[in-house]
Amino acid sequence: KEQARNRPDWLKIQLKTGPNFRELKQIMRGGSLHTVCEEAHCPNIFECWEQRTATFMILGDICTRACRFCAVTSGRPTELDLAEPARVAEAVEAMGLEHVVVTSVARDDLADGGASIFAATIRAIRERVPNCGIEVLTPDFMGNWDALQVVLDASPDILNHNIETVRRLSDKVRSRAKYDRTLEFLRRAKEARPDIRTKSSIMVGVGETFVEILETMDDLRAAKVDILTIGQYLQPTKKHLLVEKFYTPTEFLRLRGEGLKRGFAHVESGPLVRSSYHAREQVERADGV
Ligand code: SF4
Ligand code: SF4
Repeated sequence: KEQARNRPDWLKIQLKTGPNFRELKQIMRGGSLHTVCEEAHCPNIFECWEQRTATFMILGDICTRACRFCAVTSGRPTELDLAEPARVAEAVEAMGLEHVVVTSVARDDLADGGASIFAATIRAIRERVPNCGIEVLTPDFMGNWDALQVVLDASPDILNHNIETVRRLSDKVRSRAKYDRTLEFLRRAKEARPDIRTKSSIMVGVGETFVEILETMDDLRAAKVDILTIGQYLQPTKKHLLVEKFYTPTEFLRLRGEGLKRGFAHVESGPLVRSSYHAREQVERADGV
């Protein structure tokens, strides 16, 4: 079904590079760091990097899971790079980032799922660039709640964990993740640290119904999630899950309205919205700035 050339017009973007973009690219190369912006071929890279927002992917580039929508390589990771937190912090400083998102592959091979490296990365950035907003987008640590606490203890500004899809499609679309475990993760995070904003993301177009999306919104609100992002699934390669539907910009607006009605402090909803798109503005709006 989905082929890039068949994408509706609203998914075609203009590629333009500015001075910030070129500078950031050089810094990234120098630190041997991975960004989701580049690896996932994110369509927003020019805009985000110009606005000095980027998403780092720590803990290597090989994932122990294999979700059917995701372009990251799956396999057995070998490395655990203890110097990575310091390098990320250096790059955040050198890039002059105002908001950074730190995410990782799933590291089910590690006892704490990589939580201690997340925590070390948050602390290293905080120390080097105190004014930079820090958001972490973590895996579920297989329900290891002590690992979740380790991340919370490092006090990120936002804790993000994606639900990705509706309950009925969760097992089909995601690998090893569980719909209810995701909700429990978000609920526990809020209970333990009510001062940290929680956030989650739904990717639409994989076969869900409108009503199912609303039910997922209700589930996230019941877990007291503050910020919701909703974006269109795009098939990264022909081997990945097919796109079942392209939502129109009007439908995304409707979803945004439904989200706000349910009490999310902020909802970012649009065809090209990714979890970290306009990440800084998302917090500002949620804070009423
Ligand atoms: Fe990077 Fe996220 Fe922006 Fe995409 S939306 S370019 S992944 S910061
Ligand atoms: Fe991709 Fe995350 Fe799934 Fe790994 S766990 S395959 S990185 S979505």
